[in-house]
Amino acid sequence: MTDRQQLIVKNVDANKQLILDAERWLWAHPQTGYTEWEANEYLTEKFEALGYELTQAGNIPGFYTDVKTGKPGPTLCIMGELDALDIANHPESVNGMTHCCGHHGQVAALLGVAAALKQPGALDGLCGTIRLMAVPAEEMIQLAFREELRKKGTIGYMGGKVEFMSRGYFDDVDIAMMVHGANAGDDIDFRCGLGNNGCMAKTIKYKGKSSHAGGAPHLGVNAQYAAMLGLQAVNDLRETFQEKDTIRFHPIMMGVNVAVNIIPDEMKIESYVRGRTIEAIKRENKKVNRALTGAALAMGAGVELCDRPGYSPEYHDPAFMKLVEQCCCDLVGADRVAFDYNAWSTGSSDFGDITCVMPGVQWHCAGATGTGHGIDYYITDPNRLCVNSAKSQLFVTDALLSNDAANAKEIIKNYKPQYPSIKAYFEAINDLILDKDAVKYDENGAATVDFLNI
Ligand SMILES: [Zn+2]
Ligand SMILES: [Zn+2]
Repeated sequence: MTDRQQLIVKNVDANKQLILDAERWLWAHPQTGYTEWEANEYLTEKFEALGYELTQAGNIPGFYTDVKTGKPGPTLCIMGELDALDIANHPESVNGMTHCCGHHGQVAALLGVAAALKQPGALDGLCGTIRLMAVPAEEMIQLAFREELRKKGTIGYMGGKVEFMSRGYFDDVDIAMMVHGANAGDDIDFRCGLGNNGCMAKTIKYKGKSSHAGGAPHLGVNAQYAAMLGLQAVNDLRETFQEKDTIRFHPIMMGVNVAVNIIPDEMKIESYVRGRTIEAIKRENKKVNRALTGAALAMGAGVELCDRPGYSPEYHDPAFMKLVEQCCCDLVGADRVAFDYNAWSTGSSDFGDITCVMPGVQWHCAGATGTGHGIDYYITDPNRLCVNSAKSQLFVTDALLSNDAANAKEIIKNYKPQYPSIKAYFEAINDLILDKDAVKYDENGAATVDFLNI
């Protein structure tokens, strides 16, 4: 370790208890996307006690603050996520929610980064600006609730980072990073792959007609059967999905609000179509919508299709990855670091949207056990999950912004983003929006179908 790295370790260790307390408090106060007010309040208080002035998102949870080095240079954004998941069966769930993706550990680490940057000498030799950002709503869930927020004008986009981008919070950011917790086993502290799938967020509403389920089913149209047929049709399309596109479609039926002796007149489904590229997602989503529409037609039902931009595919710039890998090795030794420059995950994150317009890396650090998004997910080693995470992020910050930010400037200069600007990115994702009543019948029973986004 260099002298600078030793100083960083010391600066983080000086704030260890603050980080560990935050991890436990936030674990005990889980809230889902766009409702993370308790975590927001807790972190606001802690950041302000450290002397930070925060820019709050205001009508949704989340904030950022800028640490200025006093010398010109690039702006690096370091993010932590606030949101938990609905998973009522987790033994430690609170009001049906748990941090079973470990996001609370990210913001605990972010607090550690913030505290360490206030220590004497922390900014020596650095240039540019460090933007620390607590972002809401990474998990793409509760689509109906988010659509309601969208209609009210509270948000424009389902994902917190996309929403923050639309608010201009990334306009002057040049490069971004974050660390996600993981069950990486006992032997590995840090992992990273090349990237992961993007996704389209879908809500599908089959519409039928209620009637007496025993006495007069012939007077009804069963929306549940139409929905089941639609899902069967998409399942039969799966072999046409090509491996190279890593497509995923994983619908859940949202239940019905009628008695068992009534033919259900409505069935909602939520799903994503995930894929490796936006082009593949668009292409396969069109087939999915066609299949869902055909099933409605077969049953004499209607179907409303609602597509929203989910997350863009996430791509980690290999040159930036290399620098992160070196920093992780410096911290814990090469044998405890596993970076794979080919690995591709089929999950999705709105960090992908950030990497569409600037270089970014999201790496994983160990400290959790069990299955991510599972009822056996626990934090077993908050030291590795949060304290190590904070140290690694500060090592990378130092490597990027020291020496007149030579490394950051090189990475930024060579990066070829998918879109030339945030504006161009939004134009592209806004094109994905679709709202269709896809099957219409006239008085003679003739049907017209329209499921295309043109
Ligand atoms: Zn998750
Ligand atoms: Zn997560």
